[in-house]
Amino acid sequence: MPKSLVEMASEIITAQASHTLMSSEDISEGIRKVFDVLQNLQAIEAGMANGNGGEGTMVLKPLDSIQRNRVICLECHKDFKLLSNRHLALHSMTSRDYKIKYGLPLRQPLSAKSLTQTRRRIAREKGLGAKLVAYRRRQKKTIGMGSARRGSRTGACLGGFVGGHGNEPRRRSRALPTQ
Ligand SMILES: [Zn+2]
Repeated sequence: MPKSLVEMASEIITAQASHTLMSSEDISEGIRKVFDVLQNLQAIEAGMANGNGGEGTMVLKPLDSIQRNRVICLECHKDFKLLSNRHLALHSMTSRDYKIKYGLPLRQPLSAKSLTQTRRRIAREKGLGAKLVAYRRRQKKTIGMGSARRGSRTGACLGGFVGGHGNEPRRRSRALPTQ
């Protein structure tokens, strides 16, 4: 059970009275003042709670719902590390619907910032790795193709030269002495 405002006010004043010299009037006046302040605070707190539930005043700005270590579902105000499609399905919406409803950028990840950062870093590392592999593969291919092409061309030329001009005269010259 939460403490009543009167209990809280009297506790505060009792604490104050133990530090400073207060007359009984000071104390009752103090309690009344503290009570008023607490009552105002409680009204504000209640208003915030109502505002959160209703359509009217939004206390939590959509972007503020995505925090460092959690993301608050703007539909049910539960907090998560990651606002999954599975959870949003409970509110019969997709993450896209959700972002549109709350005016969040469509690229905004619905996960705690710390989690997003970790994922981004991993993605970046993976992306770099994949790029490097692709680059190396491309390099190998161009080198391979180049040398193969060069090889076949020179091969053809040599073959043509050797076959066309080299072999026949040699055969002839070899044939000549036996004739
Ligand atoms: Zn929810």
